[in-house]
Amino acid sequence: MCKCLRCAELASALFPIDTPSPEEMETRYPPRTLPEGATVTRFSPSPTGFLHLGGLFGVLTDQLMAQRSGGVYYIRMEDTDKKREVANGVRGLVDDLAAYGLLPQEGVTGAETEAGAYGPYTQSKRAEIYHAFAKRLVEEGKAYPCFCTAEELDAQRETQAAEGANKGYYGAWARCRDLPPAEQLRRLAAGEPHTLRLRSPGEEGRKFTVTDQIKGKLELTENTMDVVLLKANGIPTYHFAHAVDDHLMRTTHVVRGDEWIASLPLHVQLFAQLGFTLPKYCHTPTLMKEEDGSKRKISKRKDPEAAVRWFVEQGYPGESVLEYLLTLMNSNFEDWRRANPAAAQGEFPFSLKKMSVSGALFDLVKLEDVSKNVISRMAAEDVFAGALAWAKAYDPTLAELLGGDRSAAIAMFSIDRGGKKPRKDLARWNQVRDTYAYFYDALYRPDFALPEGIAPTDAAALLEDYLAVYDAQDDKDAWFAKIKGICAAQGFCPDVKAYKADPASWKGHVGDVSTVIRLAVTSRLNTPDLWAVMRVTGAERVRGRIEAARRAYAAQK
Ligand code: GLU
Repeated sequence: MCKCLRCAELASALFPIDTPSPEEMETRYPPRTLPEGATVTRFSPSPTGFLHLGGLFGVLTDQLMAQRSGGVYYIRMEDTDKKREVANGVRGLVDDLAAYGLLPQEGVTGAETEAGAYGPYTQSKRAEIYHAFAKRLVEEGKAYPCFCTAEELDAQRETQAAEGANKGYYGAWARCRDLPPAEQLRRLAAGEPHTLRLRSPGEEGRKFTVTDQIKGKLELTENTMDVVLLKANGIPTYHFAHAVDDHLMRTTHVVRGDEWIASLPLHVQLFAQLGFTLPKYCHTPTLMKEEDGSKRKISKRKDPEAAVRWFVEQGYPGESVLEYLLTLMNSNFEDWRRANPAAAQGEFPFSLKKMSVSGALFDLVKLEDVSKNVISRMAAEDVFAGALAWAKAYDPTLAELLGGDRSAAIAMFSIDRGGKKPRKDLARWNQVRDTYAYFYDALYRPDFALPEGIAPTDAAALLEDYLAVYDAQDDKDAWFAKIKGICAAQGFCPDVKAYKADPASWKGHVGDVSTVIRLAVTSRLNTPDLWAVMRVTGAERVRGRIEAARRAYAAQK
């Protein structure tokens, strides 16, 4: 550590006298009082307006780790790069997280709100905090002002390219690194624009190891770049700001995508130079997709599913997306789910050790399957609430129909729900309109086309007979007895087994008769339990539709 008078003089020339000290910051942000072993995780996006699937994967990991250990998960906005900023960038992210129930109690909690004792949680509001640590680095000889202009740096990069040297500001190429103190002071006094750079202690080619909680032991090459810590306007770079923040916000585990491993040598060095304890790193696998038989990274440009909002728009319940991410996170999740079908996701004994090390394959077909299971386990009231909330945003007509008669909609979603083999007919709320169209006159499109083997004359006669005996009050047994009852008169066998033993003697069997009634009432060949469907549809509409179908078949004679 330097601490010489020259460095102290340089620090005073660079920073105002009332710059707070790092010790003041340590007092302002004391270590957290948490149970032993509690982890503190953070999600620290740039406010680019939307959440990526990889981001959601990370946030879910953050949240589970904190929750399972009695710790804290918080959100910090990393908005130091004004070039990347978009209008309403924070709002979009916050809304996306809220849609998944993943907004934490601490940090950025809304587009304009923050909560917690370790704030502000937005980097652009933390200038004096960064300056405290930047000044100390200068006092210790670990950082220095650089007066190189953008043009000079460009020219240098070109020379480096021409000479085949590594690009960047390092070693002999770091021209301002060893400027004589008198020149530094003179140029500062003259008000020359300058950045502040790290005096990297790294050695070219020297290796070090760091243990990642997911990837295991990583052997990396030391950083040698004298990176910029503070830009000419005094705003820190992400690298510098995040190290100060993770330290002062008392982060124990840094969970982020494995594309950040490339920055790890610099981060490890920054923590060391700042005298901070290194957090534990958890670099999560990249989400991949399969295309034409090969795997590739999910791309923000090419794949709509790269943006988490897409799943909301399509009407996947948030729980389904999270459930699928859990299957990707831990290979034992599916077994756990089978053994604990009713358990909340938070009860899963999530473990970093079980996370896959390399790219995880995100498959929309698999998601569809997972989502069907998730919805099939929901209570009818929750299906109604989910579908209605989605419809209010994306299908106002459907919202009006569902909301117009809440109890009818819940009765409709209750059909074949519960029990050992619940119906799995919905994966997305945008399938409700089509799947349940026949319950709503406004959506219902009659289509009485008979399957092969049933003649329109027979269908007309069966429906006529059925109308004569139909009673909406019949319980299921009475209802089925009546269907069987009308078979024989029209040459259909009331018993499937008997029919199979002697098919030549019959026009069809009781199943075909049900098909004719099902078609008449719903215009579908497949529906949930027909008796229940007819109960929900109501006597008047059932009669009207059966009569309409009968007439249509009779006209085909
Ligand atoms: N702000 C960084 C980003 O935009 C986060 C990197 C980190 O988590 O350390 O993704």
